[in-house]
Amino acid sequence: MRTETTYTLTVECQFCGTLNRVAVDRVADGPKCGSCGRPILLDRPLHVSDQTFQQVIRDTEIPVLVDFYANWCGPCKMMAPVLDDVARERMGQVLVLKLDTDRNPVTQQAFGVRSIPTLILFRDGREAARQTGAVPRAQLDTLLTPPAR
Ligand SMILES: [Zn+2]
Repeated sequence: MRTETTYTLTVECQFCGTLNRVAVDRVADGPKCGSCGRPILLDRPLHVSDQTFQQVIRDTEIPVLVDFYANWCGPCKMMAPVLDDVARERMGQVLVLKLDTDRNPVTQQAFGVRSIPTLILFRDGREAARQTGAVPRAQLDTLLTPPAR
């Protein structure tokens, strides 16, 4: 199904780190990195860093869900498969990102993230909702539901 307006998203190539712009209606066609030619796999959460975070958020026209996590964090590990499911089932509707707070302290501090996991939903480049702590899928779906107009 195509809509008249095609949204684009900006994602970091997980192999070479190059930022790529991808049209949402092409995500299922197997887009490839413009720099290294390897696939951009949007059916799973993508890692993002201090270096790329701002631009990815600013240049992505669909909602972005960011998982602030750390490798040593048990509840974060519990959330991982839930986020995998969300990324796969809502591919092209929601961009799911993971930010390793140990390696990317600038972004963590910029958003005042003090405990992990913290999930922040961005709409139009701005924080729209926040959830701290591991939550079941149903609660995550509520977070992702657009506010009533
Ligand atoms: Zn690449």
